[in-house]
Amino acid sequence: MKYISTRANYEPVEAAKAITLGMVPGGGLFLPESFPAFAPQTGLSYQELAKKIFALYLTDFSEEEISAIVEAAYCKEAFPAAVAPAVRLDDTAILELWHGPTAAFKDMALQILPHFMTASRRKCGDNDETVILVATSGDTGKAALEGFKDVDGIRIICFYPKDGVSALQERQMLTTTGNNTSVIGVIGNFDDCQGAVKRLFADEALKDELKTAGTVFSSANSINWGRLLPQIVYYYHGYAQMVEQGMLKMGEEINITVPTGNFGNILAAYYAWKMGLPVGKFICASNENNVLTDAIMAGVYNTDRVFYKTDSPSMDILVSSNFERLLYELCEHDGEKVAQMMNDLQEKGVYEVPDAIREKFFGGCADGKKAAVALKACYEKYNYLCDPHTAVAVAVAEDYRAASNDSAPMLIASTANPYKFPAAVCAALGIDCGSEDVMAIAESLSAATNTEMHRALIGVDKLPILHDTVIDRADIAECVKKQLGVE
Ligand SMILES: *Cc1c(COP(=O)(O)O)cnc(C)c1O
Repeated sequence: MKYISTRANYEPVEAAKAITLGMVPGGGLFLPESFPAFAPQTGLSYQELAKKIFALYLTDFSEEEISAIVEAAYCKEAFPAAVAPAVRLDDTAILELWHGPTAAFKDMALQILPHFMTASRRKCGDNDETVILVATSGDTGKAALEGFKDVDGIRIICFYPKDGVSALQERQMLTTTGNNTSVIGVIGNFDDCQGAVKRLFADEALKDELKTAGTVFSSANSINWGRLLPQIVYYYHGYAQMVEQGMLKMGEEINITVPTGNFGNILAAYYAWKMGLPVGKFICASNENNVLTDAIMAGVYNTDRVFYKTDSPSMDILVSSNFERLLYELCEHDGEKVAQMMNDLQEKGVYEVPDAIREKFFGGCADGKKAAVALKACYEKYNYLCDPHTAVAVAVAEDYRAASNDSAPMLIASTANPYKFPAAVCAALGIDCGSEDVMAIAESLSAATNTEMHRALIGVDKLPILHDTVIDRADIAECVKKQLGVE
């Protein structure tokens, strides 16, 4: 399997090279030149399924290598119980993707990416130190830090919007150990962080300078193929569980709703469909930052809008990087057309999305109030507690059903454990927690709902803060140079 650029500006490369590079030098994202067929099947463990799917894409990896990587990533220590269980609520299955070490779905990919990267670097004969630059809207940061900390030959620098993540998310990041980790708060929003990181990746002069010093950049954001690929697996796994639970017969179509930010998670679902997973519609759920709702339903991607800080901060994004990979499909693999659109986005902040998007996608949004109502209703009806991101998806899935008369079984990707956002969950449920302190709020939530806190969050308030750098958004490039000792 070869990997090509969404912008038709790079020669096809093997998986190891695509993963090592992270993104296409000069702009663009790697994607597989074709999608291998794979039929859903029941009765496989998560690990068995992952090995089968990875073998189709990582054709430059041996079976033994893939097997060892999967066992190391999805081990009992990282996922003590089920890896990604589906919880049935009538004709909806909530696919819980937050059973990993940091309580967010990012673990599903970031527990395995460092293994992919180490193996890929070895294959490419690359002995340079790899510097992973991460821009995070909250959850990626901690998940990447946990995945990469103390990995030989790798250093990780993580930027987050100083006032744009939850108190607990920030706390989780700032208490990260590891002798190769840096966490930096930025006065700005997520798009500032992501934009600066992208510019660093495209800075050829800086890269030359670093290369001389034995250092290369790479990415742990979902622009890296090694991060997207693992996400395909759990949609097959979710489908199999729905069949096993008697929600549908093998081969029947489901719909999938995903609370969306950078468009990685929902794109992985779409790729699963291209491989043969029976899916009718992909429902893209957004919060107040509904740029994708408009892109899908009105056909115009326009970033010229107010940026809201919401109760679902991991979806507070205006420029969804992975949308570029979908555009490549919608433009019938015309990379030059995609390059033009991305150019328009950069220069005018707006471009037209092909109408073909509405064949498979529906876009909807739910603001904080509406998501809170859905969260409460879900708890009252099913005694099931979901987090504010998942609640956005629950609300939008309902809207889709009402608007479409489409009653196919629904799979909803649940992207965070509710204890990651205890204040918003308490507010939605009307639980008076009478405190500002996030741990006290989490305890109130636990007492009021008789549910247990996720292990990732227990005791995080007692850990020492190990990172305290805060910089202006204009100084990100300077900061990286300083950290790496180049001027
Ligand atoms: C990252 C994240 C999302 C958005 O996922 P994308 O792949 O970026 O679309 C949604 N919810 C939570 C909790 C997240 O951490």
